[in-house]
Amino acid sequence: MVRAAVDAGVTRMITMGVDLEHSQKGLELAHQHTEVFAGIGHYPTETSAPDVEAMRRLASDERVVAIGEVGLDFQDTPGPPRDAQIQRLDTLFSLAVEMDLPVSIHNRAAATEVAAAIKAHPGLRGAMHYFALEWDWAERFLELGFFLSFAGLVTRPSRNALREVVKRCPPDRLLLETDSPYGNAHNRMGVPNRPAYLLDTATLVAQLRGINLDELAKIERDNALALFRKMT
Ligand SMILES: [Zn+2]
Repeated sequence: MVRAAVDAGVTRMITMGVDLEHSQKGLELAHQHTEVFAGIGHYPTETSAPDVEAMRRLASDERVVAIGEVGLDFQDTPGPPRDAQIQRLDTLFSLAVEMDLPVSIHNRAAATEVAAAIKAHPGLRGAMHYFALEWDWAERFLELGFFLSFAGLVTRPSRNALREVVKRCPPDRLLLETDSPYGNAHNRMGVPNRPAYLLDTATLVAQLRGINLDELAKIERDNALALFRKMT
């Protein structure tokens, strides 16, 4: 899978963790492949609270470049109550600032609360993962210093407002992701998503922004290295 991605031109990947077990597995993968880096995360709908001590231990590894995925999900029920999610996110944001690592943020139906949480943590930096909102929210997160990370969703013909965001996003804040095995591009519905399929999204994003793939690749590389500073 990593080989196929590299062959397709995806030369660096971050595998985000959703709980301790998967964060650990992602980290093992990152030690097996020079192209793969890891995020240590705790998904907002996890029933148990994050083990911050264990996360801190894992995150100190040289192959860990982010705290993620973390965030708020007020739509996917049954999840922990909103208050509990907000409290956990506060702890996880503090960990990210303490370790000087960027966060990858999952936000579903909680943009107001996510923005407030970011604001409460000066020095926090990161990416809005799987960005799916319209320009007014894009602008808000850009103002907070965040990057917008776009996935296969932008390739779906119905997503005109999101395509507008792709066009207007400042070049130094634009990131791409697959969210694989989820987040399929329009032409790959029904098959598990793969890192190599990032090219589906990249091709459309380059087209929307009126640049070629090589130019987009340079932007992506520069942005990813600027945000995920431990990535080499
Ligand atoms: Zn997510």
